[in-house]
Amino acid sequence: QKPVPSDIVISRSCVPKPIDCLAREVGLLSDEVELYGKTKAKVHLSIIKRLQAQPDGKYVVVTGITPTPLGEGKSTTTIGLVQALGAHLKLNVFACVRQPSQGPTFGIKGGAAGGGYSQVIPMEEFNLHLTGDIHAITAANNLVAAAIDARMFHESTQSDKALYNRLVPLNGEQRKFSPIQINRLKKLGIEKTDPSTLTEEEITRFARLDMDPSSVTWQRVLDTNDRFLRKITIGQSPTEKGYTREAQFDITVASEIMAVLALTTSLQDMRQRLAKMVVATSRGGQPITTEDLGVSGALTVLMKDAIKPNLMQTLEGNPVFVHAGPFANIAHGNSSILADKIALKLVGPEGFVVTEAGFGADIGMEKFFNIKCRYSGLRPHVVVLVATVRALKMHGGGPTVSLLEFSANLELLEKGCSNMRKQIENAQHFGVPVVVAVNAFKTDTEAELDLVCSMAKAVGAFDAVRCSHWAEGGAGAVALGQAVQRASEAPSKFQFLYDLELPIADKIRIIAQKIYGADDIELLPEAQHKVELYTKQGFSNLPICMAKTHLSLSHEADRKGVPTGFILPIRDIRASVGSGFLFPLVGTMPTIPGLPTRPCFYDIDLDPETEQVNGLF
Ligand code: ADP
Repeated sequence: QKPVPSDIVISRSCVPKPIDCLAREVGLLSDEVELYGKTKAKVHLSIIKRLQAQPDGKYVVVTGITPTPLGEGKSTTTIGLVQALGAHLKLNVFACVRQPSQGPTFGIKGGAAGGGYSQVIPMEEFNLHLTGDIHAITAANNLVAAAIDARMFHESTQSDKALYNRLVPLNGEQRKFSPIQINRLKKLGIEKTDPSTLTEEEITRFARLDMDPSSVTWQRVLDTNDRFLRKITIGQSPTEKGYTREAQFDITVASEIMAVLALTTSLQDMRQRLAKMVVATSRGGQPITTEDLGVSGALTVLMKDAIKPNLMQTLEGNPVFVHAGPFANIAHGNSSILADKIALKLVGPEGFVVTEAGFGADIGMEKFFNIKCRYSGLRPHVVVLVATVRALKMHGGGPTVSLLEFSANLELLEKGCSNMRKQIENAQHFGVPVVVAVNAFKTDTEAELDLVCSMAKAVGAFDAVRCSHWAEGGAGAVALGQAVQRASEAPSKFQFLYDLELPIADKIRIIAQKIYGADDIELLPEAQHKVELYTKQGFSNLPICMAKTHLSLSHEADRKGVPTGFILPIRDIRASVGSGFLFPLVGTMPTIPGLPTRPCFYDIDLDPETEQVNGLF
């Protein structure tokens, strides 16, 4: 077998078809497409209305077993499967994937366009700025951050009346509220639109948000792995008169605005979500929102292009939507609802949309069902669970380092299949058929690949097939494509794991026990306090987005296989009210990665002659 060249060499060896041709091929009209150069385009949301009556295609979600830090090939399989269904089985298809963060691209992991002969191209466009959506999120997020600190500063240094006069300035002879200010008055129960009629008490209530600085949960963001911004002190210039505060930066993809982008269903819905985001609590215990800060309209303006999905293509010319990429640690780690919805209309009832959920099935897939599907109303037909021999051996007790040097070991492998069994069961809780895709590496033996397939079928997978799309492209995933086709015809009785009306702690306990295999949960004091606060503030009916390590079913990354006999500690709980979930923190989650001693950027450069990007992999 010929060796497989590097990802960028393969990506560059293929000339992408002009993106306007691809747009026409998939049924988009020219006024629904905004070109960003020759290989990327944005798609207008107006298409949803035009195709309203069109029945949806088949919806497939790709997930995985508990991964090694090297990844199991979910992105690669998503693209390989779409290439197989589209280019080889001649069906209408779409892949829907996340836009990667620039942090890891220059840091440790490298790109995320798939790999080998199953990639989104051009991978340098995909991995770098794309069409600027992440930059728009950075801008919007930091506008909120600036608004919070400026508002606290102005409130600390001005009387109620002076504050009010500046918030509602004289316009000629008269003062006038902006529409956003009228919304705030309504929220306060003040049904007035004429500023001259407000009482002293109403002026104070309107003008003072009275945010408690220690309650601010909104952070600044940057899409760079800059570890020295994990904790900072802001306001140190004398112009801020000593109003300093400890703060932090998160990576942009961890911003709530990214989660809003991924979960929104229309421009109007995005406007509402961007208004509902809670940034702090007032000293009186009230949640303070972006609408209270008056910034929600401006946020919508900054996000008006980002809401349109980005069209790209696979190496074999199939359409791909690249849209949104919420952090899978503290957010839900799934690409956008809008991209999936548009793709399902475009492929039509006989076609397939393959979307990817980040991390293992206990994290990305559980959130895909309980959060994304709840907000989208979409019901998947098939779960594809990606497994690799190398990771299953690790789960069987093999070393977690030097994974690639493993030799054949059926005993270890059989033991490690327990993790695959548990993740299959996790998918079955939702009533959807599971097809296991065994992503073959060149070091795997026939006996090992056969063992994983037979074990998967024995524990209730609808089917299990080995695939070689990394080395062979779509041709290597035809059997997987056919299995997915068969599974999509099988009866499925979709159900959620929990009811939203249950108390917060009960919902967390159900996930911990049914999905992770915990004996119980333990709410630590901060988490207990938040349960009470959010219940009082009326947020207890939101779905749960667990922030837990993806490297183990338990909360301890080094416990492999299927850990048992553990109590899941819940350290704290946070609310993402705009995106619409509560996220319990299991242990400490890094919210901005750091750079290693030798980051990926050492290899990256531009050839000034050809203008080619070198060194991305
Ligand atoms: P995930 O989505 O699960 O994180 P990716 O699809 O991004 O995983 O793959 C992780 C890395 O492993 C990529 O660099 C990819 O090229 C590589 N990879 C995936 N499948 C194979 C395979 N079968 N053989 C060799 N390398 C692979």
